[in-house]
Amino acid sequence: MSYLVLARKWRPQTFSDLIGQEHVSQTLKNAIDTGRVAHAFLFTGARGVGKTSSARILAKTLNCEQGPTTEPCNSCPACKEITEGNSVDVFEIDGASNNGVDEIRELRDNVKYLPSHSRYKIFIIDEVHMLSNSAFNALLKTLEEPPPHIKFIFATTEPHKVPITILSRCQRFDFKRIPLTMIVARLRYIIDQEQVSMSDAALTMVARKGDGSMRDSLSTLDQVLAFCGEKVDDAAVVAILGVVARQLLLEVVRLVIARDTSGLMALVAQVDASGCNMRNFCNELIVQMRALLLLNSAPKSADLLDLSELELQESLQLAQNCDLVTLQRFISILLKAEGEMAHSSFGRLLQEMALIRMATISPVVTVDELLGKLNALTAGGSNAPLAADPSPVSYRPAAQRAQAGSQNSVPRTAAPVTPRETAPAANHDTADSKRSWQGFVAFAKARRPMLGTKLEKASPLQTVDNALKIGYHKGTLELTMMQEEESRKLLLELAAEYFGTAMTVTIVTLNGSEESLPQSIAEKKSAESARSEQELRIAVENHPAVKATMSIFGGEIVSMKKA
Ligand SMILES: [Zn+2]
Repeated sequence: MSYLVLARKWRPQTFSDLIGQEHVSQTLKNAIDTGRVAHAFLFTGARGVGKTSSARILAKTLNCEQGPTTEPCNSCPACKEITEGNSVDVFEIDGASNNGVDEIRELRDNVKYLPSHSRYKIFIIDEVHMLSNSAFNALLKTLEEPPPHIKFIFATTEPHKVPITILSRCQRFDFKRIPLTMIVARLRYIIDQEQVSMSDAALTMVARKGDGSMRDSLSTLDQVLAFCGEKVDDAAVVAILGVVARQLLLEVVRLVIARDTSGLMALVAQVDASGCNMRNFCNELIVQMRALLLLNSAPKSADLLDLSELELQESLQLAQNCDLVTLQRFISILLKAEGEMAHSSFGRLLQEMALIRMATISPVVTVDELLGKLNALTAGGSNAPLAADPSPVSYRPAAQRAQAGSQNSVPRTAAPVTPRETAPAANHDTADSKRSWQGFVAFAKARRPMLGTKLEKASPLQTVDNALKIGYHKGTLELTMMQEEESRKLLLELAAEYFGTAMTVTIVTLNGSEESLPQSIAEKKSAESARSEQELRIAVENHPAVKATMSIFGGEIVSMKKA
């Protein structure tokens, strides 16, 4: 193996070597093909995604003896010098260490002279945002009126720190994080060239550690190779990188779905024994659950996830076995545990509790599923499906219910509520149906609400033959008040007006020993509401949908409401 670190040894030398930045290389190639090459470029993006490499490739495409060309030959002196970093016409300046005005003044003086033996003088300024303000001002003079033989290529991880006056004079290219699958593919190519044996799973762990940066991924690979030599096994990579093997995370999900708590506990023990930090493990699990959530809710969202092809296939399969609501509950449980781990020395216990909770969680039944089940069950008993029935708990007479005929049990009939309620009160009422006691109370209530309310509570003992005789129970407030002269007078007036003739009015004191008293209006009302409640309950209890619900899911009728 070479002593050169992989990142340098495998630095891309042509645009086709450049991974994950096709949008950049394509635009630059087009510019070169059409001869419309800008005089200043700004390459922005995270570290290790190919900015400096691209700057060197661009320099070569412009200065190659075969060029300008989209594919530099990499064999002419100009190309070789640039690769080796000793071209007299290509200047690489590190903005981080050369942030003074002096360096830029020197650069400005240098700009005046023609390139010594190349087509262009090219200034590559890395970390350009680190330049001081006066350095920027000095640079700006050159950028405003650049000589035709000068090209600037600026690179930065923080474009927002570059003054707008500079930005506006550059053609800007935003470099992206490199997708995991692309990094893995590139690592696979390099590993094969280096004749090292390493699994895809191990390469994925290395690439994931690089977090979208090719340089960081290659540095990690260097670290692994330094430890393992030419045969790398997965367990060693897990140990070196301190990561949780993805297979282990997928196994957790499988065990949770299978509700295998003892399997889960064994797995936590295994993770703990491997020295992995429990909170880290929990974090990884959350990331894995998020992947399942995304794949479940939007199967085409795979692009949003950093998963290798194998992991993607396995995750897709698992995602199909879960429902969205359950996945969300899993994530809440894990997030809670993760938060608690920050303040606790019982990380393993918290992780175990979370996993047990996940494995024993009761399944969620959605309303749609419930209705579906009910429709299926009541299909034989009810004429119409539940959803199509506009009033699912409508009252039907007992006879009609019996005709429906699906129930094996004898339908309960509405029993009379009270004998008193049904006893005819006709002999107490006036023959003239238009002039009834009920009508009089309503009339009185409209005129004199206070008096009307008292009349509602009276037992109408006689309302015929020009005589009004009403009774109140002994000791009631109504009795006392109605016996007052003023009330009697008012009652006489109202009665005369309503019945159309002079009436005698008698207030009787009831002592509770009377038999078969006619009901007061208030009593009638309360009896009616009790009866209607009872009828409603019977109707609801006998409704096929309700019967099915109670028999399948258990439960009782707590309250009813008329629609
Ligand atoms: Zn060349």
